[in-house]
Amino acid sequence: MIALGDPAATRGLVYDIDTFAIHDGPGTRMAVYLKGCPLSCAWCHSPESQRHAQELVLFRDRCTLCGACVTVCPQGVHTVTADAHTLDRERCILCGACVEHCPQGALAIKGYWTTAADIITQAVRLKPFLVNARGGITLSGGEPTLQPAFTATVLAGCREQGIHTAVETTAFCQWPVLKSVIDQADLVLMDIKLIDDAAHQRWTGVSNRQILQNAARLAGRNVQVRVPLIPAITDTVENIRGICRFMNDVGLKRIALLPYNPSAGAKYEWLDRPYRVEGESQSPAYLQELRDLAQRAGVEAVIVT
Ligand code: SF4
Ligand code: SF4
Repeated sequence: MIALGDPAATRGLVYDIDTFAIHDGPGTRMAVYLKGCPLSCAWCHSPESQRHAQELVLFRDRCTLCGACVTVCPQGVHTVTADAHTLDRERCILCGACVEHCPQGALAIKGYWTTAADIITQAVRLKPFLVNARGGITLSGGEPTLQPAFTATVLAGCREQGIHTAVETTAFCQWPVLKSVIDQADLVLMDIKLIDDAAHQRWTGVSNRQILQNAARLAGRNVQVRVPLIPAITDTVENIRGICRFMNDVGLKRIALLPYNPSAGAKYEWLDRPYRVEGESQSPAYLQELRDLAQRAGVEAVIVT
């Protein structure tokens, strides 16, 4: 069991905060995105969230190959030629000099350390707006259970202030850790991506066994299962049917289907990582078919667009 920490002393590594999030739970929310994830989903729409460490990103569409970063970098990370900019990322010590000197704003360091108290203060400041928008705060990722003391302390502090709390999780962690976090959440948004374990391992890098075991313990809580619909990987009739069957078996009632967004691949360029997914967004007719299938299986289904 993870104990709640002193908010002022409990630190977390965050890579973004959205104060107007509309896809991370009900209403308009303050979404806090934590850095680090134990899964490595091929389609992850936030590849900059995956490593539990700060890292340098290059927005290639902004780079004019001026070479200013080459001049200021003490580590020789950047090589700029007439038609290319390459980075030796292993050498980077995250000093920030190139970020500061780039005239195009083409460089950034993703990830910063903050405290639970700071996040709670920001949420309290937004409270009138969040309450009016029937929203709240959502801790997302990356994976919030990788930083359980920070996550639980933020959620508990916000709840104490009368702010609706939600956590978005892969549930890939030990049950006591997950419980410590979700005990502070009014709503749990939990991903089940693939019901077939071999496919889950292939596309996310880990087995789904622990995830499903944890899911089976969530009946009776306010849970929405979320399925990112990835063309020909997770969006098959077989997969959705299998997930719904599992949900019925363990008493989970609600599913959200998240249509594929092909623009996700663009961020992989920032980090010089390959993007392995191909395909287009599902058609409205196919989304409807999947939703109907889930409804027929006895699960309350929504499409989150
Ligand atoms: S300073 Fe900025 S614009 Fe110039 S080469 Fe470096 S990243 Fe590109
Ligand atoms: S952050 Fe510092 S070490 Fe890293 S690439 Fe930029 S200037 Fe070089």
